Amino acid sequence: MKSALYLYNTLSRRKELFEPLAPPFVGMYVCGPTAYSESHLGHARPAVTFDLLYRYLMHLGYQVRYVRNITDVGHLENEVDDSGEDKISRKARQEHLEPMEIVQKYMNSYHAVMEKLNTLPPSIEPRATGHIIEQQLLAEELIKSGYAYESNGSVYFDVEKYDKSHSYGILSGRVLEDMRSNSRALEGQDEKRGQFDFALWKKASPGHIMRWPSKWSDGFPGWHLECSVMSTKYLGDTFDIHGGGMDLIFPHHECEIAQSTASQGHAPVRYWVHNNMVTINGQKMARSLGNFITLEELFTGSHKLLVQAYSPMTIRFFMLQAHYRSTLDFSNEALLAASLGLQKLLTAEKTLSNLKPSAESTVDVSGIAAKCYEAMSDDMNTPVAIAQLFDTVRIINLVNDGKEKLTSADITSLSEMFSLFVHDLFGLRAEESAGNDKLAGVLTLLLDMRQEAKAKKEWGVSDRIRDRLNELGITVKDRKDGYDWEITA
Ligand SMILES: [Zn+2]
Repeated sequence: MKSALYLYNTLSRRKELFEPLAPPFVGMYVCGPTAYSESHLGHARPAVTFDLLYRYLMHLGYQVRYVRNITDVGHLENEVDDSGEDKISRKARQEHLEPMEIVQKYMNSYHAVMEKLNTLPPSIEPRATGHIIEQQLLAEELIKSGYAYESNGSVYFDVEKYDKSHSYGILSGRVLEDMRSNSRALEGQDEKRGQFDFALWKKASPGHIMRWPSKWSDGFPGWHLECSVMSTKYLGDTFDIHGGGMDLIFPHHECEIAQSTASQGHAPVRYWVHNNMVTINGQKMARSLGNFITLEELFTGSHKLLVQAYSPMTIRFFMLQAHYRSTLDFSNEALLAASLGLQKLLTAEKTLSNLKPSAESTVDVSGIAAKCYEAMSDDMNTPVAIAQLFDTVRIINLVNDGKEKLTSADITSLSEMFSLFVHDLFGLRAEESAGNDKLAGVLTLLLDMRQEAKAKKEWGVSDRIRDRLNELGITVKDRKDGYDWEITA
């Protein structure tokens, strides 16, 4: 029933049949967080996306080595003019902590929220500070091969030189010539030969806390270098999948390709997979816009933009309802709908386990699981698979109402399908209602009472419930077999 997996490869800009280099083994590297602040929605999306891919690949029978790094050196605040300060160093100064205390604090909180989101831990979680020597060695190798140069204690990658023999920009579709004509040279770049050269090693300024000795200077590695080093160290110089958010395509992943290709003579990655971004009420998420919501704030409802708390499983389900390559817009309405939808799915699963089997089935459920597989194998099309599951919910409710019949074998196969897709692959688990999902429970209760009123022909009561909900932006639709609702405002 399982079908071949197709993944959209950013490099070729099309869906490709996934064929690992050395089956049954699969190597997957995903860019992890920079450990200097609380995890937010932007961290949750790649974590959930690649957790889904990890789970699905394992389900297809692959042995996956999933590597996700922790950036604990800190990026330069401003990579363009190089005058910026390391994010971790700055935070350490502000909070009067050792840089490693900052890293530990936020790494712990990242792990805690990832556990709440039910993402499986990666096989290896390498840290940039644990690979300083390897990063220095790669920088040295690139100098030897002529693709990098030392300047005033720092080392830069020579983009112009690389572009002559390879093409810089193959992943993002950028052309160096266009980039040159679209930007003007910035001041303070005299250290670099070319405007687009990027740092492999930076000499530390006197106040810079995180620094390591090197043959060039006391300094620290450039951001892009760590991922080239750690991915190839643990997965080999060519590996199957490299993932991350679309915002990393340029310059981060482009620079990774350039570094690895220049040192190895061939491309490092076969499938580049990128998840799209998260917006909030249609706006980009940014601290300056006041719409920057951390995951803890979402789970507790403690942000002024939130009308209530949303459970980790609601967040996870909400993310899976959209295709990972679509943008995802967070709003209270959408999250509330996701919370109610998830509850509906989990309630149906319970109903399913209590259904009374019949001698024969009046509905054909044999093709549903195959359709879910088909959707998953089509570039992880979770919204289509979830629609199939909701179709099943409708059937379950009809059978429960005595309007359709299912055999015991069909009930078992639907239970297995729920267990596989809802729990094992989508990673959704039943939560104790932590108060915040009470609203969903209240809505179900209210609509059930309305059904009872209708059954007793108390039309005044049933209409009043419908109209009042309508005023609150919840549209109730009557169906032959019960009701349906949706958030419309
Ligand atoms: Zn990276």
